[in-house]
Amino acid sequence: MREQINILVKLQKLDTEALKIKTTLNNVSRKLENLDSDLKEVEQTITFQESIVDNLKKEYREYEADVKLNLARNKKSQEKLRSIKTNREYQSLLKEIEDVKSKNSSIEDKMIECLDRIDETEKVIAEKKDEYSQLVDRIKREKENINQEAELGRKKLDELDKDREKISGMIDSELFKKYLVVKEQRQGGLSVVPVKDAVCHGCNVNLPPQLYNELFRCDSLKFCPNCHRIIYLKEL
Ligand SMILES: [Zn+2]
Repeated sequence: MREQINILVKLQKLDTEALKIKTTLNNVSRKLENLDSDLKEVEQTITFQESIVDNLKKEYREYEADVKLNLARNKKSQEKLRSIKTNREYQSLLKEIEDVKSKNSSIEDKMIECLDRIDETEKVIAEKKDEYSQLVDRIKREKENINQEAELGRKKLDELDKDREKISGMIDSELFKKYLVVKEQRQGGLSVVPVKDAVCHGCNVNLPPQLYNELFRCDSLKFCPNCHRIIYLKEL
């Protein structure tokens, strides 16, 4: 029985390792998706910032057109000024010209502000584009690593499968069935655990003295009454 338990423990090690690799492999596609979404995020930021620049440029052109219109208007007024006869009319037109001038001056301030904001935003875009190309490189490397690791994992899994087949052929079929049942219940946790100083190492609960004594005999398979795992003596 002791020898069979030893084989079972070996088998369990293989199963645990295989499970670990399977979990990693399952995470591969999620990892790859995460990398892609990082890239998409930067892409979206760039697109957004570019739309800001487009709007600012449009705003700038509108201001420019307004200024031109006002200049033309004032040019006309200046011409009209020459033909005016009364002082009142003259003063009123002069005031209109001044008003248009000050309007233009405030539009020009806005244009400068516009240009500043375009500059700032374009700087952000340049930084983001830099970040993007770095990210593309990094992601390419990371994807290569992930795929390489996955490939290794799959190979290792194949080896483990072969070892497992070999080892499971050495185990008594009834014992193997029981192992599989416990394994199913443990859902990836340990199914075969040592007992030390009468304590089950699966659940840390004390075994009844009689069961503990029986373990020394090594003549049959024993289960922990608390966690139902297969138990064996740690020291023999
Ligand atoms: Zn237990």
